[in-house]
Amino acid sequence: MMSVKFRKLALIGIGLIGSSIALAARRQGLAEVIAISTRKSETLEEARALNLGDIYTLDAAEAVRGADLVILCAPVGAYEAIAKAIGPALEPGAILSDVGSVKAHVVKVVGPHVPAGVSFIPGHPIAGTEHSGPSAGFAELFAGRWCILTPQPDVPQAQTEKLAAFWEGMGSDVEIMEAGHHDMVLAITSHIPHLIAYNIVGTADDLETVTKSEVIKFSAGGFRDFTRIAASDPVMWRDVFLTNREAVLEMLGRFLEDLSVLQRAVDSGDGPALESIFTRTRAIRRSIISAGQETAAPDFGRPHEAPPAPAAPLFVREHGGGDDA
Ligand code: NAP
Repeated sequence: MMSVKFRKLALIGIGLIGSSIALAARRQGLAEVIAISTRKSETLEEARALNLGDIYTLDAAEAVRGADLVILCAPVGAYEAIAKAIGPALEPGAILSDVGSVKAHVVKVVGPHVPAGVSFIPGHPIAGTEHSGPSAGFAELFAGRWCILTPQPDVPQAQTEKLAAFWEGMGSDVEIMEAGHHDMVLAITSHIPHLIAYNIVGTADDLETVTKSEVIKFSAGGFRDFTRIAASDPVMWRDVFLTNREAVLEMLGRFLEDLSVLQRAVDSGDGPALESIFTRTRAIRRSIISAGQETAAPDFGRPHEAPPAPAAPLFVREHGGGDDA
């Protein structure tokens, strides 16, 4: 594995992903100096208090001056304005990258502001949690996770290799992909699952025949795992659906067709059809576990301590049957 050390790493946006890069890059010695810029002064002060970098500024152009690696870590909707602001300050020979969850849109809005001599290599670490902000980051976030890089056509191979070495230094495996292809892959593996989770949690919230207290109480039946995804940052996910419309709509169309097949199978009591679909999907889960992308531990590795001895008799009715909403 090639080892790499950048002179100055500039991170624009310092939430979960930006702060995790700062912590991992520092721990692994991947940058001599880390400059941090963000939009709000409170967030900048939070990053400073957490000692995430060496230089702190609200001026993104100042942060990127003299940087040989710049990574945009803000919500994708902010990229165009940021690119406009930093474009003239980018140094020839620098690498400009990002971590946004969509890629073709990033190429479209950032690309025109990248000066000649700067290597534009959009990226996307397939790693995250539902938490946001500078204090949400941790140095191990990218370990054992994939990072997809989408180098633009004029970028020298050596620059892509340097950025790949940076991500590998933080523990990631790197895959090179074309931006449009990335968007299709992520539409089905990430964007549609989020849309479904937002929808099912919203539907449960609107139900009138089942009370909210029942939804919460019996959530371990499957619902709970959707709520984790549906707790993801609303601004980030708004931007994903605004900027990856075509791929999301294409995959959503296929999803809805398959959902109708399931609906018909349930409606007609077609046991063999249901069993055959569920058997196929179970195999996919097994492949994800053997690829090291998920734990095989029962209940997704959630700790289960022995329940404390009950202080009061069990089976006491907690609710009078009314809706506690
Ligand atoms: P986050 O925790 O909400 O952080 C976003 C950061 O961007 C905050 O520091 C915010 O700071 C800053 N910001 C917002 N608008 C800005 C602007 N106009 N200029 C400069 N900074 C601005 O979000 P995140 O989860 O780290 O996501 C950041 C990027 O990573 C997104 O593009 C997302 O698509 C991508 N991503 C996220 C995940 C995930 O699971 N979360 C995974 C992979 C990739 P202020 O408080 O100053 O506004």
